[in-house]
Amino acid sequence: MINRPIIDFGGHRDKFAMTDKEKELQLEIDKLKKENSALRDAKKKAENAQLSLQESMDRQASYLSLLLEATPYFILITDENFRTVMVSDVYFKYDHTVEREAIIRGVDATRILENFAFGESLQAILDNCRQCLAGKVIPPFLQKINYKGKRFAIETSISPMVEDSKILGLCLIQIDMTAHVESLERARSADRAKSNFLANMSHEIRTPMNVITGMSEFILRDSEDDNAKKHASMIKAASHSLLSIINDILDFSKIESGKMDLVNDPFMTASLVNDVATMMKVKILEKPLDFRLEIDENLPVTLLGDEGRIKQVLINLLNNAIKFTQKGYVLWRMRAEKLDSQFCRLYVDVEDTGVGIKQEDLEKIFSDFTQVDTKRNRTEEGTGLGLAISKRLISLMEGSIHVDSVYGKGSTFSFDLILRVVDWTPMGPMKENREEYPSDVYRPSIVAKNARVLIVDDNEMNLEVTAGILEPYGLEATCANSGEKALELFDPDKFDMVFMDHMMPGMDGVETMRKMRQLPGGKDAKIIALTANALSGAAFEYKKLGFQDFLAKPLDPKNMDRIMRTYLPREKITEQ
Ligand code: ADP
Repeated sequence: MINRPIIDFGGHRDKFAMTDKEKELQLEIDKLKKENSALRDAKKKAENAQLSLQESMDRQASYLSLLLEATPYFILITDENFRTVMVSDVYFKYDHTVEREAIIRGVDATRILENFAFGESLQAILDNCRQCLAGKVIPPFLQKINYKGKRFAIETSISPMVEDSKILGLCLIQIDMTAHVESLERARSADRAKSNFLANMSHEIRTPMNVITGMSEFILRDSEDDNAKKHASMIKAASHSLLSIINDILDFSKIESGKMDLVNDPFMTASLVNDVATMMKVKILEKPLDFRLEIDENLPVTLLGDEGRIKQVLINLLNNAIKFTQKGYVLWRMRAEKLDSQFCRLYVDVEDTGVGIKQEDLEKIFSDFTQVDTKRNRTEEGTGLGLAISKRLISLMEGSIHVDSVYGKGSTFSFDLILRVVDWTPMGPMKENREEYPSDVYRPSIVAKNARVLIVDDNEMNLEVTAGILEPYGLEATCANSGEKALELFDPDKFDMVFMDHMMPGMDGVETMRKMRQLPGGKDAKIIALTANALSGAAFEYKKLGFQDFLAKPLDPKNMDRIMRTYLPREKITEQ
């Protein structure tokens, strides 16, 4: 729009014509007007922005006060001089000595805390606040306090409020963890009760099982009647599978409660392979299956680790492969890769041409108590715990386990572990060790005609079983049915070895052993714990208590043979 001229220069000129100067001025005026209006707009915008900032700050302040009002936690904010800035309303529930207004104006925060924490707990909090304001990082800490006769567990966290690397104050938050700590303690005591229950159950089941396996062993050894032998062998097999179920459940619960301790001992690779292969060769004889071994001859001869647990995983995988394969083969492949001068990674595959596992079941099979394809596999017994235990054992050993399978064609279970190498010398070719095939009847490897042993057990049948297992050694066995009786009979010069039950009424096995050790010459007596308390790690526990060694019930004659060879005096042993 063109504005009307504002200067009149006389009548001789066109009233509305503008000189150049006027035009210039007019342009200048127009520019200023535009700038003015832009400035007005900017001012309006700034005013609006300030308004909305104020609104959002007001909103935040009201959220903060809502938070301080509603939070169940005690929150205290102070400035850099430890004077109050604000406190959550929980404070006013318990104390009114300092008014809200005074807190906002700022009082020494010690006054607030004095009413909220007491005794040693107050001192620790004040110390930590001081250190926090001085720039030290304070991790959250839990304090147990008594308040009006009730016990509380309070967690305190103290953090600094920092701006431009300067500490402006601190924020202290206290959370009442009493319910949480109580439920944790309840869970722990339930867990202890569960472990005790399992140890007792193990004991209770193993004691009669000792008699069942022991007696079937004697029938197999002594009977001339083929039918009776067949039945005894069936009883023996059934009791072994019952025992392996009990062991699975005990192992599983031990891993679950975090009590499974692994040992780290040197072991011979060849003996691990031989032991497992021998067991599997016997097992596979029952089926038209080919057992293939591809064990790398370059495996280091001695490794460090938990041989027993590695064997347990191998046996589980190979047992499953044999169980779920009707024809074809089961292959065990094992090799090691050198990682550095100290460690190698052990690779194991167990491959079978069995029923296979459906794709949708592959994820599930490592879960607890899971058996898949139960329609097809219903004839196979098991607890569904074997793979869950294997997976946990492998991860305890910091390895990994997985499975590949084609349904109807077969499966391959693989695991790998990192192990320390004791001796890198190659293990060499596997020797066929036919003598190690166990026969149904166990024959001891030695006789000890002049040896004398004392057997202590409150259960007469158990005394009979142990004496029966010792019979083929040709030694002289004396029985005592209580700790007291054993002490009466015990003479370190007379007995080469003592087999001691643990749980006995009256004087128990541990006390009897300790008393025997105090007798002249008793310090070095060979006292072996013979007990049904067979949770993993029991051997270690019994040795710590002062026993020379440990034998689990039901008694395995092979283990008895190891004990006899280890502890009987050399001159009393004759090889068979
Ligand atoms: P179980 O004691 O029942 O064998 P596991 O945990 O060892 O328990 O195995 C769980 C399930 O995984 C088995 O019941 C079976 O269904 C499946 N499974 C394990 N190994 C194999 C295999 N080699 N071939 C086919 N199925 C298998």
